[in-house]
Amino acid sequence: MTKMYSSTNKPLDGHVAIITASTEGIGFATAKQLVVDGASIMISSRKKSNVDKAVEILQNEFGENKVHGVVCHVSKKEDRQNLIQETINKFGCITIFVSNAATNPVSGSVLDCPDEAWDKIFDINVKSAFLLTKEIAPHIKSRGGGSIVYVSSIAGINPMPMLGAYSVSKTALLGLTKVVAADLAEHNIRVNCVAPGIIKTKFASALTENESLSEYLLQMKLMKRFGRPEEIGSVISFLCSPSASFITGEVLVASGGMTSRL
Ligand code: NAP
Repeated sequence: MTKMYSSTNKPLDGHVAIITASTEGIGFATAKQLVVDGASIMISSRKKSNVDKAVEILQNEFGENKVHGVVCHVSKKEDRQNLIQETINKFGCITIFVSNAATNPVSGSVLDCPDEAWDKIFDINVKSAFLLTKEIAPHIKSRGGGSIVYVSSIAGINPMPMLGAYSVSKTALLGLTKVVAADLAEHNIRVNCVAPGIIKTKFASALTENESLSEYLLQMKLMKRFGRPEEIGSVISFLCSPSASFITGEVLVASGGMTSRL
C-alpha cells in the first residue's frame, strides 16, 4: 500500500524498530537514521554501559518517547525475549527488525577454523538472525506488515579468504533473505539485505588501521575510501521506507564500488 506524505510527515512515522548490536558503528548509525526518518527505536547490545550511553545520546537528540534501550546478547534466549517484550511494553508494537549483530573471533583460511570458532560465528551471525526473525515476525504480521533487513557483507558475495568462516556466515544471510522474503511476502513484510563494503568501525579496525593493508584494500574501491556507518544506516532506512515498497528478497551492496575480488 503506497502512502502519500505531506512535507511534515516522515517516511517511517508510526513505525517501531528493533535494531540489534546498535550501540555503536553501523547499528548505532542505523538506529539514528530510523529515528530521524520518524520511527521509534529500541536499541540493544551486550553491555549495559554501552546501551545506557547510546540511549542517553539519542534521547537527548530525539526525546525520551522515541528511544529506548535494553541489554540483548543475541544468542541468549532470555535476552531476545526481553528485547521483544520491552519493545512491546514501551511502544506497543514492532514493525521493523534490523539484524545487525555479528562476530568474527578468528582470521585465516576456512579449513583452519577451529570447530568452536565456527560454531560461535554461525550462532551469532546466522542462527540468532534466524531465531529473532522467527520470534519477531508474528508481531510484525499482527500489525499488518513491515520490514526486515539483515546486515550481511561484501565478504558474503566475494568471500575474503582470510576471513573464511565469517565470509560463509555472511553468504548464509543472502540465502536467509531470499527464503524469509518468500515466506513473508503474503503478510506484507518485505525482507532485504544490505552488503556493506569496508566501513570505518571498531569491528573493521584490523583492516582500516593497518597502513599497508588499507592501502591494498583501497585500491579495489572505485571511491578510494572506506565507508562511514551513516552511509549504511541510510541504505537500511531506505529499504524499510515506502520508497522501497516494491523491493523484497534483494541484496543491496554499498561498498564504494568494490571492483575486484578481496
Ligand atoms: P562495531 O562498530 O564494532 O559495533 C559492534 C556492535 O555490536 C556494538 O554495539 C556491540 O556492543 C554489539 N555487539 C557485539 N556482539 C554482540 C552480540 N553478540 N549481541 C548483541 N550485540 C553485540 O561493528 P560494525 O562494524 O558496525 O558491524 C556491524 C555489522 O556490520 C556486523 O554484522 C558486521 O558483520 C557488518 N559489517 C561490517 C563491516 C565493516 O567494515 N565495519 C563490513 C561489512 C559488514 P556490545 O559490545 O555492547 O555488545
